[in-house]
Amino acid sequence: MSKHDANEAPLEFTIFHNVVNGKLVSSSSGETYHSINPSTLQANPEVPLSTYDDVNRAVDAARAAAESWAQTPWAERKKKLEDFAAALEAQTETFSEMLVKENGKPLFWARIEVQSCVKWIRGTCELSLPDNVIEDTEERRVIERYTPLGVAAGIVPWNFPLMLSFFKIPAALLTGNVFILKPSPFTPYCCLKVAEMGLRFFPPGVLQALSGDDRLGPWITAHPGVDKIAFTGSISTGKKILQTCSGSLKRVTLEMGGNDPAIICGDVDIAAITPKVAMISFVNSGQLCMAVKRVYVHESIYEAFLASIVEFVENNLKVGDGFEENSFIGPITHQAQFDRVKDLMADIKKNKFKIATRGSQDTSQQGLFISPIILDNPPEDSRPVVDEPFGPILPLLVWKDESDVVQRANNTEYGLGASVWSKDVGQANRIASKLKAGSIWINTHGELEPNVAFGCHKSSGHGVECGVEGLRAYCNVQSVYSRLG
Ligand code: NAD
Repeated sequence: MSKHDANEAPLEFTIFHNVVNGKLVSSSSGETYHSINPSTLQANPEVPLSTYDDVNRAVDAARAAAESWAQTPWAERKKKLEDFAAALEAQTETFSEMLVKENGKPLFWARIEVQSCVKWIRGTCELSLPDNVIEDTEERRVIERYTPLGVAAGIVPWNFPLMLSFFKIPAALLTGNVFILKPSPFTPYCCLKVAEMGLRFFPPGVLQALSGDDRLGPWITAHPGVDKIAFTGSISTGKKILQTCSGSLKRVTLEMGGNDPAIICGDVDIAAITPKVAMISFVNSGQLCMAVKRVYVHESIYEAFLASIVEFVENNLKVGDGFEENSFIGPITHQAQFDRVKDLMADIKKNKFKIATRGSQDTSQQGLFISPIILDNPPEDSRPVVDEPFGPILPLLVWKDESDVVQRANNTEYGLGASVWSKDVGQANRIASKLKAGSIWINTHGELEPNVAFGCHKSSGHGVECGVEGLRAYCNVQSVYSRLG
């Protein structure tokens, strides 16, 4: 087998290990656990239940690898990442199938997630972080340059376990950091395989992964040998991480929850945009940080818009197992999240908020399925409007006055994204300029690119991923003053 073929040889998706110091290893205690396939409620394979000793071993290996990886030329690190991307691309199907089993999302979307990871690696590799030459005279040369932080750890959630890992890994490795990946306990499988595949390309200790339970994240964030935490998850966990990291003054990037508003103006082509708004609201069963979670519709078209989006959702967004053809809304990924969404549904029922959708599409399935719910103008201070449902529940709200809708859209602790939909470019830009969120979209929602900064305002984020800013987030700035002669 040629080296190229060996690098792209299929990975086995039945046995799962931690990846520590260039080897596939079990937990030091030998203990394992498994998650549940949310469509079938069957057990997924066993994975290591890591101990604090395992964290120590991974951090020791990372520290041992950090120096020489930092000295490896940028072009060589880039080449290894590009080779890794090609291998991941070659295994799109196996990763996608595992993603369906651990997360529940439809196969079509799982493939898009894997393809996006490949795009993110390649897109990140196109970026560069040259020295800034501040002064270059006969007397002296002054530059600012970017040096790697050292050992970075990525803590990722269960909704997009692969994608959110690849918001981090390429930026960390390209800038000369080594990386330890900690997946959510609910979705460890693809993440462990990512690091296993990394063994074909990176020296020992450069890309490692550990699976475990709720103790693992706090062990990593508190560890004195880790220099940076890149976290994606809930606001409450993000606050804990920031607190823990303050002890050692670790660098921290936090990408957290969202409650994105979409403001629909009165002049839109209703039939053309309701499918787009519905899809970005219900994709991944609403378990998407930047899903549209509140739709403000101008009063002049409210009834027509409501009828159109309900009709589209009921006729096109089929609920079902991710392996079934045409499923759009898979199950909720795990039982605790399912219970949270059910609790919100009980609140909706108790408060008699008007549900515009007809209800359950199919109750015959075993798994953690919830049919999409569209709410007809619930109160602005109700839980489905204020909270992040992280499930297939979407409130539609009426607006009349531009300044009022801007105030309502901004009246939240979240500041992840927001969109405006209008044919009138002037109106769209005027509204957009007043929205307080990290990503603003006009006549679209949720578009991201690897070469564009992704950062959130207010409680949704702290720091930036992606783009050149995302590279800087893995670096120290070092200023060098050289006197000549
Ligand atoms: P979570 O905060 O419960 O868990 C996220 C990760 O943190 C998991 O790996 C978990 O094991 C780990 N963790 C939990 N407690 C920890 C602690 N004390 N110290 C260190 N690590 C700890 O979030 P979740 O339920 O997995 O994900 C859902 C949330 O993530 C939603 O709020 C969603 O909006 C948000 N999210 C944000 C983005 C974004 O880019 N802004 C993207 C996806 C999801």
